[in-house]
Amino acid sequence: MTLVDTASTTTSTASRLLQIQQIYYEPAILDYQRGKEILAKYPDAELIEVESHWKIPELNGDETAVSKWSKVKRTVLVLGVKKSLRATPNSRSSNFIAPSHANGCTMACVYCYVARRKGYANPITTFVNIERICKYLERHAAKQGMKLEPDQVDPKDWVYDIGCNNDCSADALISDNVQDLVTLFATIPNAKASFATKLVNRDLLNYDPQGKTRIRFSLMPENIAQTVDIRTSSISDRINAVNDFVEAGYEVHLNFSPVVYYQGWSADYQQLFQQIDDTLSPQAKQQLQAEIIFLTHNESLHERNLQ
Ligand code: SF4
Repeated sequence: MTLVDTASTTTSTASRLLQIQQIYYEPAILDYQRGKEILAKYPDAELIEVESHWKIPELNGDETAVSKWSKVKRTVLVLGVKKSLRATPNSRSSNFIAPSHANGCTMACVYCYVARRKGYANPITTFVNIERICKYLERHAAKQGMKLEPDQVDPKDWVYDIGCNNDCSADALISDNVQDLVTLFATIPNAKASFATKLVNRDLLNYDPQGKTRIRFSLMPENIAQTVDIRTSSISDRINAVNDFVEAGYEVHLNFSPVVYYQGWSADYQQLFQQIDDTLSPQAKQQLQAEIIFLTHNESLHERNLQ
């Protein structure tokens, strides 16, 4: 593996997205190395002890927090211990949804469904008991045995989505949880990690995935992304990153999601496909697969997103 000098780009991405001023934390996080590491990373943040990462009335229960939606995402971090661990069966782009190592997101796409259980604020929550989560996944994959029949998810590995309620590229700006998971899956013979992302975090190029982590870059025409994909990496940045991530040992797929109809959408999609064709290396194209996802509508979340 060749180490890539990504420090300055990652620092500027991190400082654009995250200026942590307040950390809400469960006292139990102090018993974990990951918890201590994260607190040491933000020494100037105000620390606010909470009973549960899940119930923070001044964040999730405060209607007025919606008006500071992006500010809260930029300045607040929640740290907790994930109590019940479960891999949920899935059948679309993964076989299982892995237990969360994080939820929430610092980006602010206007259609985001990740906020559906977090009330009026959706900053990143990071779970510090990553070792227990890794051990759970290792045991769960071992219990599945080898995948005997290929399916639409993967021809040979059980695929675990590790970014269903979060964006792993953003989580990796805060802690090494994502690196630990990428490292873990490289050692599990019958399983692979997978996550969709709208952020290019070049720090991940220095991990060692050995083909056992699939990154799905989400794409839509730049025109519409500028309106709806708030605080994310530009579409060109995401397309330009594909070859580098393939070279670094990731499997890279594309998510055309969500599909948004508007006057001229078809011509814009053709232009997007052309840009991809012009940019991707033969190596990247050879391993490429894609999925197309329309938006899952949720009435009350839609109302909040409109706010
Ligand atoms: S990047 Fe994903 S998780 Fe983050 S706000 Fe956008 S849709 Fe939601």
